[in-house]
Amino acid sequence: MLDHEDLKKLNVLSPWKSLGDISLIWITIGCSLYLCHESLWFLPLALPVLASRLHALTLLMHDGSHYLLHPNEKVNDFLSNMFCSFPLMISTEVYRKTHWKHHQFTQTMKDPNYVIMQSVAAWHYPKKEEEVKKLLVRDLFFLGMKDHMAILKDWQILPNLALASRLEKILFPIFFLGMFSAVYWGGLWKEFIILQFGALLINPLARMRAMSEHAHYESEGTDRVHKLEETPTINAGSFERFFLAPFNTNRHLEHHLYPTIPYYNLERAHEIIRKSETYQSHARYELDGYFLGKRTSFREILVGDGYPVAKKKAA
Ligand SMILES: [Zn+2]
Repeated sequence: MLDHEDLKKLNVLSPWKSLGDISLIWITIGCSLYLCHESLWFLPLALPVLASRLHALTLLMHDGSHYLLHPNEKVNDFLSNMFCSFPLMISTEVYRKTHWKHHQFTQTMKDPNYVIMQSVAAWHYPKKEEEVKKLLVRDLFFLGMKDHMAILKDWQILPNLALASRLEKILFPIFFLGMFSAVYWGGLWKEFIILQFGALLINPLARMRAMSEHAHYESEGTDRVHKLEETPTINAGSFERFFLAPFNTNRHLEHHLYPTIPYYNLERAHEIIRKSETYQSHARYELDGYFLGKRTSFREILVGDGYPVAKKKAA
């Protein structure tokens, strides 16, 4: 699919692009909180934006876990932790440990994400349509935290401090003290609480995005053909890309095929590989959107009346 020259070009990191995107997120968060500071009438507008930007930070942290934010590993981990994962109490290094296993053993019983999906009923898909909708509505009303903690607990820094890197053990107390000093001395308690509600609203976005990333049945292999058959690529529009799949996360198939390509080059990777014969004959889920469009991940990946629907469809 991608030849050596294509891959070499697409693998080139542009650290200024990552820095620019991280800065833009924090400027947007700052502006949203400022508006809420001026008047709480801005809250209904600010909360979805805050949730989308905090969710976007987790996706930049994901690139950080692949060492794709900066060519220098220490700078990469500094950026990923201080600006993307620590604000959500997550350790990039701890996340990295499970995430690499997810890449290595995707959708098998050695994949930590798949194991959780098998063991916790809330993460077992496909489900009946009403059940999926109920879970998403529960998330919107901050009631699905228990489901999310089943996954998050493996990535959080405090319960997994022993697994954190040396750099993280130095940086986290600095971050934590810095954050609380700014909140305390700056009198920013109201903004801090609003930010926590924004963080809770990541849940419906993360559930929809994460559950759309793979078809929900155990894989019989981890080679390229299996990836093409089990991992969707989603031609989402700009609204869904902003809220559900920022930074080309909708190109999850391309990410699994070539995990060394930074997020800003995944769209180009998609354009190249979709022309290849291997892609044309094996890619099963080139979808139009998450909720919007004719072929959606909601309909084809999350919803089904029996298990494994996705596989039955292909048979
Ligand atoms: Zn990854």
